[in-house]
Amino acid sequence: MTTLEEVRRRAENDARTYGYYLHPDPKFLKDLLEGLKRNEDRYGYPSCPCRLASGKFEFDRDILCPCDYRDPDVEEFGFCYCALYVRRDVYEGKTPIVPIPERRPLEKQARAYGEAPETTKQQATTPTVTEQPSNIEIKMWYCKQCGYVCFREDPPYVCPICKAKKEMFAEITIITRAYG
Ligand code: SF4
Repeated sequence: MTTLEEVRRRAENDARTYGYYLHPDPKFLKDLLEGLKRNEDRYGYPSCPCRLASGKFEFDRDILCPCDYRDPDVEEFGFCYCALYVRRDVYEGKTPIVPIPERRPLEKQARAYGEAPETTKQQATTPTVTEQPSNIEIKMWYCKQCGYVCFREDPPYVCPICKAKKEMFAEITIITRAYG
């Protein structure tokens, strides 16, 4: 099992390689690293600590830390979605960490959470009588302090944006329908 120190070292090495820094607040950084470790223990790979993973590698590939969205987010905003990786000006406190939009495409989120098949000819047709719709529940957590929203099974230990404790998160369940 990977240790927290190994997770930290990996993140530090990766930050160094790309010229990034890790979140400047040691407590907040530790929470994020613990989230990564917990996901790695649970799923066998370090999926993003701020997003819900499906537990299926093929669906979660894009949110393996560092995720596909880190570099464009750091480039545009100065930090990744969780603010684990930050730019120098952010690390030095010259640029504030504020909520940023989720760059992960909705189709990928829906595919992962609902395990919906990729668009196929069959999916594009009207469902037949035997293809009864079933409800899919997508769980989200909403930070009551700053409005940050994330898709996860459990609320984050702390809000990556305003640092509110997990008790400040409210659960929202979205019910959608799928045919299969
Ligand atoms: S948003 Fe940050 S912490 Fe989350 S997977 Fe991407 S790089 Fe890692």
